Amino acid sequence: MKARLRFSPSIVSKTIISDTIRIFDINFNILRADISPKGGNMLVEISGKQANDSILHMEEQGIQVFPIKKVVKQDEEKCIDCGACVSLCPVNAISIKDDWAVEIDNQTCIGCGFCTFSCPTKAINVME
Ligand code: SF4
Ligand code: SF4
Repeated sequence: MKARLRFSPSIVSKTIISDTIRIFDINFNILRADISPKGGNMLVEISGKQANDSILHMEEQGIQVFPIKKVVKQDEEKCIDCGACVSLCPVNAISIKDDWAVEIDNQTCIGCGFCTFSCPTKAINVME
């Protein structure tokens, strides 16, 4: 699952993440991070048999966890299927289907936001 983790200043210096990975033997992939001594956010992907237990543990330790179903949101009303976003995606998460419609695979998306810069109709938003 993908999730946004919010850290308050009081827990930024703690080893909660490394402890959680060790205790619950999870895969923990950091997709984006914006952390300073004042706190911050991480966009992460967590998997493993004990993923749900690991999330409960992180919450108990003070991290706010917000599960994300979609990293990017494509507004189909605004999208004109121009394809400008396709080649900018570093992980090939955007593709052109047989009917020429442009589709974003949120399982592959890492939330980098590059596609948003190219869109002439502002049809793509990255979850913040
Ligand atoms: S946010 Fe980045 S990874 Fe996700 S679809 Fe856009 S360019 Fe690709
Ligand atoms: S750049 Fe915008 S309008 Fe063009 S295909 Fe991508 S999402 Fe659609």
